[in-house]
Amino acid sequence: MDNKTCLFWFRQDLRLSDNPGLSAASKYGTVIPVYILDNTAPKQFTLGGASKWWLHHSLSDLNNSLDKKLNRYHGNPDALLCEIIKKHKVSAVFWNTCYEPWQLKRDKKIKKTLDSLGVEGRTFNASLLWEPWEVLKKDGTPYKVFTPFYQRGCLNAPAPSAPLSKPRKLRLKKDPGSCALKALNLLPTQSWGKKLEAHWHVGEAAARKKLTLFLNKQLSGYTQNRDYPHQAGTSQLSPYLHFGEISPRQIWHATHLKAGAHRQESAGFLRQLAWREFSYYLLYHFPTLPIKNFQAKFDRFQWKHRARDLNAWQKGQTGIPLVDAGMRELWQTGYMHNRVRMVVASFLIKNLLIHWRRGEDWFWDCLVDADLANNSASWQWVAGSGADAAPFFRIFNPVRQGEKFDPDGEYTRRFVPELTPLPNKYLFKPWEAPEAVLAECGIVLGKTYPKPIVDLDASRKQALAIYRAAVR
Ligand SMILES: Cc1cc2nc3c(=O)[nH]c(=O)nc-3n(C[C@H](O)[C@H](O)[C@H](O)COP(=O)(O)OP(=O)(O)OC[C@H]3O[C@@H](n4cnc5c(N)ncnc54)[C@H](O)[C@@H]3O)c2cc1C
Repeated sequence: MDNKTCLFWFRQDLRLSDNPGLSAASKYGTVIPVYILDNTAPKQFTLGGASKWWLHHSLSDLNNSLDKKLNRYHGNPDALLCEIIKKHKVSAVFWNTCYEPWQLKRDKKIKKTLDSLGVEGRTFNASLLWEPWEVLKKDGTPYKVFTPFYQRGCLNAPAPSAPLSKPRKLRLKKDPGSCALKALNLLPTQSWGKKLEAHWHVGEAAARKKLTLFLNKQLSGYTQNRDYPHQAGTSQLSPYLHFGEISPRQIWHATHLKAGAHRQESAGFLRQLAWREFSYYLLYHFPTLPIKNFQAKFDRFQWKHRARDLNAWQKGQTGIPLVDAGMRELWQTGYMHNRVRMVVASFLIKNLLIHWRRGEDWFWDCLVDADLANNSASWQWVAGSGADAAPFFRIFNPVRQGEKFDPDGEYTRRFVPELTPLPNKYLFKPWEAPEAVLAECGIVLGKTYPKPIVDLDASRKQALAIYRAAVR
């Protein structure tokens, strides 16, 4: 290693292990580690509140891992990188690819700037198992259906390479122009952040711990338990994956090591990880996924935007217990169980006839795992407008979903405590409970808990009629 200085730009890869860009930088010379809070992001893609909270703690953890030498900035990456390059005589910049369309566009421009300065720009893949341009159909076009994408495309492509360990030696350089973490203003002003703190440990070590716990304790029951929101049946690795505190390769290989004992469960879990790949794949090949119906025929759909309904949904005050439980879980923890995400999304889109983009926006602001690819692909999946989506006429019934997947009402009572005394028979449909039962439980519908804001059956029929008229 000679006296060369390079810059490593951290983005959605806030870890030291299995970080190919950082490993390459460490072999190049002295490294200036940089994080830039980008103020050029399009407004609709700026970080939501929960993501900002997570990012604050993640940067703090990363800074500790880097012996307090992480350099932080807020501004235009193109201009800031040029400034640092000139100040420190940097001869190469390394980063790992981000696949959001606006970031790809920005990075292409930055590469041009680097070229004009005679500085080398090197990029790596740290966040996907397969590059989206490497998995194509025989005719060279992208897959639009998940199963052939995964079975024929991914599983026939070269297997994901083994994860890298932390760079053995990092010579780090601090830039006096770096700002304090606090100056990035990522923490919420309200007490909301405190609630999130009670639920999450952020950072690379916490991610590894979560994976180990999942593989040792939950993987064996994954396929059986993953649909039950009251159980700790899934990994909850999504925010760590989003911020890159753990890599999909690390998860993929660690799961394969366990596969001998739990073949079916491992395959089921890796299939979910592959849904994440599919979302990124779709976003890469169809960059309007977050803002436009993937199937244009849905553009004719007549949405009924009622602010009162949207507000009740956001606050968990719809009068439909499973929907309210999910929306309150989101608000209190920054997370929502996957099955309940599908139920609340279906309710918003189909029973309330509110555009899926309003739900996407709310999730973007409230989820600690808010992820442009997964969020937009999933909302379009539920809406029926996406690639390989659930058909529109599949309308989740929140009463039956509750009875089936929360049979003892544990999850629903946890987040809707005012319904706790109700017998299971009525928990998911309190409007059917006899007056005497409600009175005995101290529940007054419309006062202690809302009356349903829509009739589930009538709204379902209305949605189907509108759908048939629009999408013939
Ligand atoms: C309306 C809606 C919005 C969603 N928004 C997001 C989002 O913004 N960010 C996000 O990460 N996920 C989103 N999902 C997908 C899914 O709900 C979460 O990834 C999952 O619940 C995270 O929990 P987990 O880590 O315990 O999952 P596990 O079951 O442990 O799965 C492991 C990993 O696989 C991936 N994964 C699992 N299910 C899916 C899926 N259906 N689609 C894509 N990837 C998946 C995730 O990265 C997850 O961490 C959304 C789903 C719906 C229905």
